Amino acid sequence: MSEVRLRFAPSPTGFIHIGSIRTALYNYLFTRRNNGKFILRIEDTDQTRLVEGALENLIESLSWAGIQYDEGVFIEDGKVVQKGDHGPYIQSQRLDIYKKYVDELIEKGHAYHCFCSKERLDALREEQKIKGLVPKYDGFCRSLSLEEAKERVANGEEYVVRLKLPKNRDISFTDLVRGDITINTDDIDDQVLLKSDGYPTYHMAVVVDDHLMKVTHIVRGEEWLPSTPKHVYLYEAFGWEKPVYVHLPTVLNKDRKKLSKRHGDVSVEDFRKKGYLPEGLVNYLALVGWSPEDNEEILSMDELIEKFSFDRVSKAGGIFDKDKLDWVNGHYIRSSDLGRITDLAIPYLLEAGLIDEEFVKNKREWLELLVDIVREGISYMSEIVEKVDFIFNNEVKVEDEEAEKVLKGEGTKVILEAMKELLNGVDEVDEELSNTLMKQIQKATGIKGKNLFMPTRVAITGSLHGPEFSKILYLLGKENLLERIDYVLDKYLA
Ligand code: GLU
Repeated sequence: MSEVRLRFAPSPTGFIHIGSIRTALYNYLFTRRNNGKFILRIEDTDQTRLVEGALENLIESLSWAGIQYDEGVFIEDGKVVQKGDHGPYIQSQRLDIYKKYVDELIEKGHAYHCFCSKERLDALREEQKIKGLVPKYDGFCRSLSLEEAKERVANGEEYVVRLKLPKNRDISFTDLVRGDITINTDDIDDQVLLKSDGYPTYHMAVVVDDHLMKVTHIVRGEEWLPSTPKHVYLYEAFGWEKPVYVHLPTVLNKDRKKLSKRHGDVSVEDFRKKGYLPEGLVNYLALVGWSPEDNEEILSMDELIEKFSFDRVSKAGGIFDKDKLDWVNGHYIRSSDLGRITDLAIPYLLEAGLIDEEFVKNKREWLELLVDIVREGISYMSEIVEKVDFIFNNEVKVEDEEAEKVLKGEGTKVILEAMKELLNGVDEVDEELSNTLMKQIQKATGIKGKNLFMPTRVAITGSLHGPEFSKILYLLGKENLLERIDYVLDKYLA
């Protein structure tokens, strides 16, 4: 069997949608599973839709997600470079190639010049709409002779080149997800292949490139399914062997509508900014529309590669469930190396103004402990700001009425006075003291259990719940604890 070769072929038109990164991911998983080659090709033939910086963002997002490729467009030392034997891999650099193949189709009678003006086409579409017909080119220029067409081209007339589909012919292909598909050419438009600006359309470029780049499997979103018969016809017209097709179900929101910006976060960039981990997003996205045989839900990239196959991709749309993403991502936040999670947390803490660079430099150990005690309760890194806020503010905010009631219980003052005395008698709250302080207060006051712990926790943190209390004591240290006690005594218990 020949080498498996797949490609991801995005258009650089903006931030990369998570549906699109999932397409890239499935391509990648299948390629690696089959020891094949993966290509990144840039489809920029629609020059009107290009967005500055989109190419860089795209490559950066793929690399962040850990989706590696072997050929195509890369960024090295800040520069766009191309690697591989089948380049260029940017379509706007391949115009001569497309022109040659368009000419071949014209010569073989599979394509024709069309000189219809925009006005004529608009009027035609309008008329068809009024009649309730599906808008379609009426074939006005199909019967022009090649000589006449060439003469008009030579005279400088503006033209496009259209595909000349035979009448009433069934075009069939098999899709690994959708099964066998047959469409009659009478239901397909004579697709424009070459535009008047000299650029090919997507349809022309995609077929030529996939053939020349020896792509064996085309894995893309199902929005391209209606275009596939035209592509299949082109393969036949050229006499080329067609690839295997796999059309992936659209990523939907919970209302089964296409996931769009209106529903909140949709780009890889959005999730990255919020502090999702690449392995969390990738793991979850793999499950949107696919599941492994054992229904395992936490999967590393290597496990995904090992388990992935197209026969377990569902036909129905994949539902994007943010709660599930949060659960998967939370798993990685809790189980990853603490040093790494701390590194990821620091930018958010800096941005919120809770710490500064100086602090980052001098208090690494403290920061790691802080991150460690709160990471249990967060789903993505930016949530950490809210979770640690109480540590940085000695003006204790009592969370709710229930907590306030506990704080105002009869033993609290006694407890806090005892705590103050104990703290005043030490230089610092070291690890040992943080572990024994509550026992010492118990000894000094005779108050114990819930009656001791609850009011103390509320007094120091403002809340009835939270991370391990001894760790909080250690993190806050002597001075902060004393400040808090005075503040609470004065504000709530005076
Ligand atoms: N350029 C197309 C896109 O942006 C690629 C479709 C395909 O993979 O054939 O999705």
